Amino acid sequence: MRGTTKLFRIFGIDVQLHFSWWFVFALLAWDLSTFFFPKYFPDLENKTYWTMGIISVLLLFTSVLLHELSHSLVAKAKKIKVESITLFFFGGVASIDDEDLKPGTEFLMAIAGPLFSLLLFGIFYLIYFLNGNLFWTAITFYLYQLNLILALFNLVPGYPLDGGRAFRAILHSYYKDIKKATRIAVLGGRAFAIFLILFGLISIASGSGGGLWPVLLGGFLYFIAGASYEQVLVKDVLSRINVKKVMQKEYAVLEPSMRFSEFLERYQDRDEELYLVKDPSFSGILDLKNLTSIPAKMQKMISLQQLALPLSKISALRGSDSAYAAYRQLSDQNLEFLPVVEKSSLLGFANKRKVMQRLVLALKFGVGMKELKQKRSPKK
Ligand SMILES: [Zn+2]
Repeated sequence: MRGTTKLFRIFGIDVQLHFSWWFVFALLAWDLSTFFFPKYFPDLENKTYWTMGIISVLLLFTSVLLHELSHSLVAKAKKIKVESITLFFFGGVASIDDEDLKPGTEFLMAIAGPLFSLLLFGIFYLIYFLNGNLFWTAITFYLYQLNLILALFNLVPGYPLDGGRAFRAILHSYYKDIKKATRIAVLGGRAFAIFLILFGLISIASGSGGGLWPVLLGGFLYFIAGASYEQVLVKDVLSRINVKKVMQKEYAVLEPSMRFSEFLERYQDRDEELYLVKDPSFSGILDLKNLTSIPAKMQKMISLQQLALPLSKISALRGSDSAYAAYRQLSDQNLEFLPVVEKSSLLGFANKRKVMQRLVLALKFGVGMKELKQKRSPKK
């Protein structure tokens, strides 16, 4: 996610804060200090309300982080890579490499978060119940409720909420079909999103307040539910296709010492998309789409070597990789082309346009879907 700051690293996982989190921090601290606490615990000083508000939001943030950490630690125990946890406007998200998850693993990973929130609910409730100090009673009063809401909300069986992921895992092991399982679980997600939006709109109309939040959350949920279904489709299609089918073997090879102005003159009418800049000591690709504009004066001075992206700086694909690996790497590295290498020789370049074309052919006309299905079916 863009706009994040790294806070710290724990169990080998980067914990990041997205700038949108600060809005929630300010909004919640204000709401708690001026409405919530004065309403339930009247006759305290303003300063006390604000201290309680800020501590509560920080502890809520810790609760969300612990929830995400539980997902991540189960993933790590199952040898699945966890890159980061990001806290943002709608809570937290752990970036977990969820390629080829077994249903059992996905179920455990999904359920771990809400279970930990339930545990936190129990702990905060006990403190609330047992301690006599008004200050901490007020804070734990808020936190036990929020952790309970967090647990219950996430257990709703709508994808991509945790409950929806667990639900999908059950459907996946029942139907042995990840697409069908996702389609059903996404329906649950969309139904819940619509319920949230309607609930929010009714609260706004009846003037009871607090309706904006469900509307926003419902809209967000509806949007990512659809996007996650598309993601599953893309993965399903592209992981059946070998990278060589989306690879381009023809390209112009240019001298690194050539001036950019000369290149423009000579190649403006040609329809190659890819230019390899190469001599015995250098090789790189000229990524015209990602170059910034260069003034005419500079074009005469600057060489192709200075503009080309060295192949040594790009992580290459292997000949045995799938088109899905190419799709992910191309998006991650924000490139149009990626070298495909086998036994240290260059086979060609995976081409983003070709990947997208394959995707359209497969989704619209079923091209290439059957033959590869057979190849994949003998699964352990
Ligand atoms: Zn969760």
